[in-house]
Amino acid sequence: MNIHFSGADEGVTGSCHLLDTGKMKILIDCGMFQGGDFNEGRNHDIFPFDPKEIDVLLVTHGHLDHIGRIPKLIKEGFAGKIYSTKGTRDIMPLIWYDAYNIMFYNHRKFGLPVLYEETDIASAQAMCHGVNYHEEIDLGNGAKAMWKDAGHIFGSAFIEVSVDGKKFAFSGDIGNENVPILQDTERLSDDVDIVICESTYGDRIHEDSATRKGIIAGLISEGVKRGGTIMVPAFSLERTQELLYELNELSEYDHTLPKVPIFLDSPLAIDATKVYEKYPEYYDDEAQKLHLSGDDFFKFPQLQVTYSKRESQKINHIPGPKMVIAGAGMMNGGRILHHAVRYLGDSNATLIIVGYQAKGTLGRKLYDGDKHVKVMSEEIDVKCTVKAIGALSAHGDQAKLLKWLGTGKKVSKVFCVHGEGSALSVFAGKIKSDLKRESYVPKYDEVVEIKA
Ligand SMILES: [Zn+2]
Repeated sequence: MNIHFSGADEGVTGSCHLLDTGKMKILIDCGMFQGGDFNEGRNHDIFPFDPKEIDVLLVTHGHLDHIGRIPKLIKEGFAGKIYSTKGTRDIMPLIWYDAYNIMFYNHRKFGLPVLYEETDIASAQAMCHGVNYHEEIDLGNGAKAMWKDAGHIFGSAFIEVSVDGKKFAFSGDIGNENVPILQDTERLSDDVDIVICESTYGDRIHEDSATRKGIIAGLISEGVKRGGTIMVPAFSLERTQELLYELNELSEYDHTLPKVPIFLDSPLAIDATKVYEKYPEYYDDEAQKLHLSGDDFFKFPQLQVTYSKRESQKINHIPGPKMVIAGAGMMNGGRILHHAVRYLGDSNATLIIVGYQAKGTLGRKLYDGDKHVKVMSEEIDVKCTVKAIGALSAHGDQAKLLKWLGTGKKVSKVFCVHGEGSALSVFAGKIKSDLKRESYVPKYDEVVEIKA
């Protein structure tokens, strides 16, 4: 039995892990690499395994860096079943089509290659099967899998796979603490031996997430005082819905939201919100209560939803102060770029960064304080105020990850993946010193033998 580390090893994107049981090959996630270009060159490389030999694909959650190469996997011969939670199953096609549209736009405009065709997305959709949390799926050949709530994004899970008396947990991404709408991250099962664990914030502690609503309100008030446009590049899945949830509360319950127009300028986010509304059973107690009381917490009076391109363009003619929430979250594509071209150079404008920014992305450059950037082939001197909120991160910090790993009583070894540089090494060290468990940072394309 072995694990072939095939993506998000020594990096945070392109998540892909192959568990070869000796009797079958189980792939866990097949994400897109993300960096400076939306569709990074590495995505076009051949897989470090033969897609035709994969028996089954298990998906942790619907983020592009965990599912983005699935249509390519099918294009190159994978023909097995794809299992995920039902929420994730409904979200995946939205993400694939959105990615395809961005790739196709870049293809027409700049001649960049697309990774797959629309027909591959249709095939992928037909191969997807939705499962319930805690439902045990028999994969055949003595392997079983179960999805438990990771509290990271809607429908997200970590997956426990049992084979020949060994139990593996593939973390996917582990959520932050006190996240609105979502349920808390579940415990690992008592008999998990080996964890393949994300390490995005393995070397960092977030500011207290209990104060997130106050931080958001403060930043918006400051932005409104500056008088310009407040840009929020938001991941269309989860960050956006959480932000709407908090804004709904500030507007309708606390009455502290400055009365400026707020635009949700992301067709993907608008579509994804409909999936949330379809599965209220995934909500945490507080969100369920609001839902049952009849409050549609994704809507409030100041919010305007701009689905079409024409509606989106009209935002430009509305004078500030105003706030625009648009994807992509790392500013490596999507409508946020149009707003960035217009407002990054405006000293009255504000940019609020609410999620992880991978190396090479425009979002990361701005987060790092770059004062001169290139956006859609335009050179821009950055003059707006740039703010970042760690508490709004979708990922748990070091303390949360250690706490989660600690719930597995029999965990003997942790493979640290899905992190950059020191996040991996610091986290691996902490697992040894604080949890007294073995840890290891695998390299990309490394195969690690697992003793039965
Ligand atoms: Zn994720």
